Amino acid sequence: MSEHVVVVGADAAGMSAAHQMLRTAGRTGRELAVTVLEQGIHTSYSACGIPYWMAGDVDSADELVARTAEQHRDAGIDLRFGARVAGVDLTAREVALEGGERVGFDQLVVATGAHPIVPGWALGADGELPAGVRPVKTLDDGQWWIDRFAEAGPGAHVVVVGGGYIGLEVAEAALRRGHGVTLVTRSRVMSSLEPELSERVALALCDAGVEVVLDADVTGLVVGPDGAVTGVRWDGGARDCDLLVLALGVVPATEFLDGCELSRGEKGALRPDPHGRVAEGVWAAGDCCAVYRRLAADSVFRPLGTHANKMGRALGDSLAGGSLAFEGVLETAITRFAAGGQHVEVARTGLSREDAVAAGYDPVAVVTEGSTASGYMDEADPVAIWVMADRSSRRLLGVQVVGGRGAGKRIDTAAAVLWMEGTVDDLAWMDLSYSPPFSTTWEVLGVAARRTAERM
Ligand SMILES: Cc1cc2nc3c(=O)[nH]c(=O)nc-3n(C[C@H](O)[C@H](O)[C@H](O)COP(=O)(O)OP(=O)(O)OC[C@H]3O[C@@H](n4cnc5c(N)ncnc54)[C@H](O)[C@@H]3O)c2cc1C
Repeated sequence: MSEHVVVVGADAAGMSAAHQMLRTAGRTGRELAVTVLEQGIHTSYSACGIPYWMAGDVDSADELVARTAEQHRDAGIDLRFGARVAGVDLTAREVALEGGERVGFDQLVVATGAHPIVPGWALGADGELPAGVRPVKTLDDGQWWIDRFAEAGPGAHVVVVGGGYIGLEVAEAALRRGHGVTLVTRSRVMSSLEPELSERVALALCDAGVEVVLDADVTGLVVGPDGAVTGVRWDGGARDCDLLVLALGVVPATEFLDGCELSRGEKGALRPDPHGRVAEGVWAAGDCCAVYRRLAADSVFRPLGTHANKMGRALGDSLAGGSLAFEGVLETAITRFAAGGQHVEVARTGLSREDAVAAGYDPVAVVTEGSTASGYMDEADPVAIWVMADRSSRRLLGVQVVGGRGAGKRIDTAAAVLWMEGTVDDLAWMDLSYSPPFSTTWEVLGVAARRTAERM
């Protein structure tokens, strides 16, 4: 008799899991009937592409869809749209849908992702967002923003609240659409970088014409008589605007599990083992989960598509009798800001200095300036690289990069060394490629590692 697997959530984690469990079941002989319950009407789309769609690089939402509903159904998955799970009864082995229907399961996969943070100051007395204010999370949000950008027309002023990677990417999109842009952030721009590197990103934004407001706690919105936003206030300042983007991060979408006895961590994130197991017959993957941080040996909430896909695949394989495992993260991430004559690539991997100290390391860190290509080539752009290592073991602990074209993807070399638990000397002396359009004779990443090694 086949086992009934119910997957809740039909995006990166849920659909990776669903397809992988069917592939592995084909090999292991397990009989699985897979139902995927999705509250919305979209599946397997790239949220990561939404800012580039907003900027005009992508023509339509369809281009962001990796696999359509029909393709999932053709693969044997019973995909149901408009099916919002409101509660779970682990004893009866049932999920309750909004509307009252109950669906039984043998195995439950939670892949519900995360909700965008909408702070109280953004809501009107009716508990709704004023016209012209919205986060950027789903394809519907993307379409809404494209329509608002077009309606407002070039010259309208857009305030982006939040200085993380989504804030940066949306600021790029708004600027490229011809709007004036103010970016307001509670701390720094890209606060996951060390201050000396995040400063460079803030400078690039300013040089592109973005008004950057740092260390500002937003306290409220100004709303016109027609109910549309006309401004924003923060401690010590204010700004008129036509549109306001909420880019304040996300929290795990796990509230429908309240009442279930499942261990949850930071912000309510589920804590699956490397195979995706949360409890007997209950599995989870993606943005609703915390991830294991290899260098600090702890569990943190780091919602990213790259993790969601891998976690989903490992879960699907394990559920169907395989042994694939998701072995944690290094906090590797990359983005860029390219508008207003600026092109800055931003990437990081490993621990921050503060986290390294908290994890018991004795960090030594150095920033090195260099070039992405030989100085006599058109491709040569400035780059700054921060390299941190542990004084006694010489273990590489973290690398951050801010620079021009070709700078960002250098982070993957550093991530490979971190993954293999290599030293700063490994990164300094490993065999990296060289040709004038791509690097200097001594590749700048190797030079940065050598400089740190010399300080130890
Ligand atoms: C603008 C933007 C840019 C991004 N850029 C990057 C990037 O460059 N690199 C990167 O690695 N990551 C990026 N991300 C993050 C990435 O998109 C997410 O990490 C990824 O989508 C997580 O996949 P998921 O399947 O866990 O969750 P989601 O994609 O959020 O999918 C969860 C699904 O579950 C459904 N659902 C939720 N609750 C219920 C319920 N109760 N019942 C039924 N269905 C439910 C939702 O409707 C949704 O379809 C970006 C995100 C955004 C918003």
